Amino acid sequence: MIIDCHGHYTTAPRQHEGWRREQIEAHTAGRSPPPRPTISDAEIRQSIEGGQLKLQRERGTDLTIFSPRAAGMGHHLGDAGTSEAWASACNELIYRVCSLFPKNFVGVAMLPQSAHVSPRNCLSEIDRCVNEYGFVGINLNPDPSGGHWRDPPLSDRYWYPVYEKMVEHDIPAMVHVSMSCNPTHHTTGAHYLNGDTAGFNQLMNSSVFKDFPTIKFIIPHGGGAVPYHWGRFRGLAQDANLGLLSDLVLENIFFDTCVYHMPGQELLAKVIPVDNILFASEMIGAVRGIDPETGHHYDDTKRYIDQLPLSAADKAKIFEANARCVYGRLSQTIERQAAKVG
Ligand SMILES: [Zn+2]
Repeated sequence: MIIDCHGHYTTAPRQHEGWRREQIEAHTAGRSPPPRPTISDAEIRQSIEGGQLKLQRERGTDLTIFSPRAAGMGHHLGDAGTSEAWASACNELIYRVCSLFPKNFVGVAMLPQSAHVSPRNCLSEIDRCVNEYGFVGINLNPDPSGGHWRDPPLSDRYWYPVYEKMVEHDIPAMVHVSMSCNPTHHTTGAHYLNGDTAGFNQLMNSSVFKDFPTIKFIIPHGGGAVPYHWGRFRGLAQDANLGLLSDLVLENIFFDTCVYHMPGQELLAKVIPVDNILFASEMIGAVRGIDPETGHHYDDTKRYIDQLPLSAADKAKIFEANARCVYGRLSQTIERQAAKVG
C-alpha cells in the first residue's frame, strides 16, 4: 500500500468556501452567520472522483491522509467563535469524504485556532474528530496570526494542552501554517516553508520531547529549510549544549516528501534517516503545473521516490510502514474503513 500522508480537500464544492466568506462578512458586520449550505453526496463524489481520486489512480498511490484546505483555515480571520464553526464545517466535510471513499481517504482534523486564544479551546474538536470521525491526526498551526508570529513558540507550555491531547489519543500533529496575511510572506512560497523551519527550530530548542517522550510531529514540505541546513541545526544544538541533534529530535520529528524536484528528494533521503521520512505529495495543492524539464507534474512525488537509490525495504518504509508507525491509529482505521466497503 502506498500512503500519501499529506493531502488537502482543495476541490471542495464551491458553496463551502462561499459560506466561509459570508460567515466572515457577517462577523465583520456584527450579524449572525447564514445557515450552512447543503452539500450533496453527489457533489462531494464529483469533486473527489475528478480530482484527488483520479490522481491517486494515475500515479499509483492508494490512500491519502486527508485534511481541510490548509490556506483556507484562516485562523487570523474572525474570532474564536467563527474558527470553531468553520473548523467544525471543514472537518465534517472531510468525514463525509472518508465515509464515501473509505478505502482511499483517512481524516486529519483542522483545529479551531485563533491568534491570542489559548489552544485549549481546540480540545473538544480534537476529541470529536478522533472519537466520532475516526481521524488519525491534527494539523497544528504554529502561527494563527497568519504571518505575524504573535503567539508563543511551540516550545512554550501555552501549547501543552494540545500536546497532552495528542498523547492521550496517540495522534501526531503536522506543523502546518495557513494563509499569510503578511504581504512580505507569500503563502505557499515563503510562509509555509518558514513555518516548517520555525516549527522545527522551536521544538528542537524545547523540553517538549522530555515532557512528552512519545509525541510525534510531522514537518511537511520536506522539512522546509531543515534538511538543507542540517549542519547549522547540529551546530546550534552543540553550541547550546543540547547534545546530538539526532538524539534530540529523531524519536519525535518526521519529514514528509513534498519536495518538487529530484535533487531535493536526494538531499532529503541523504540527510534524514529513512525511518523519519513519510511519503507525501500535497496534491492537489500548492504547485499544480507540469515541470517542462521532466514532462511530469511537480507534485507527482512518487516518481522521485521510485528513482532514489534506496532498497525496496527502505522505500516500503517511506511509502507505508513509517506512516503506520507515526499515525498510531492509522492501521486500525484502515481496517475499520475497509470493513465498511466489505
Ligand atoms: Zn499542506
